[in-house]
Amino acid sequence: MAGNTIGPGDDLEAWCTRCRMNLNHRVIAVVGYEVKRVHCLTCGSDHKYYPPKRVGVREKNAAVVKNRPDTPPRPKPRKTNSRAYGEWSTFMKEMPPDAEPRPYRLADMYTVGEFIEHPALGVGRVLEIVGRQKIQVVFKDGRKVLICNKQE
Ligand SMILES: [Zn+2]
Repeated sequence: MAGNTIGPGDDLEAWCTRCRMNLNHRVIAVVGYEVKRVHCLTCGSDHKYYPPKRVGVREKNAAVVKNRPDTPPRPKPRKTNSRAYGEWSTFMKEMPPDAEPRPYRLADMYTVGEFIEHPALGVGRVLEIVGRQKIQVVFKDGRKVLICNKQE
């Protein structure tokens, strides 16, 4: 937490698209850890956040700038599909504590309501038999259609 948390109402230096200068801006919108919109304290315009540009490095000198200025690594908030997660956890609550999810196999047949375990997607629950060889399963990451009943 080394001053890394910026929220709406905070001030920071940003590139103003109207003034075409690095100026102090007030943060309007933050998504995750990324500042999305700012308000220029100089000209009063609201615009997308652009990081401050390095003074002296303009497009004209682009040829000179061989090495891109290091972009500081930003903490990328992991995109969890919270809606899907909510749905999944609702279904998981119905899993009896002693139930063992069946390992997912292409050749197996499944029934609606069955709990299965996919090697990559984890534990899920069969929601629907989509077709003779397809099932829809709810996983932590959302609903997926899986192949089943597939004979070689
Ligand atoms: Zn401005």
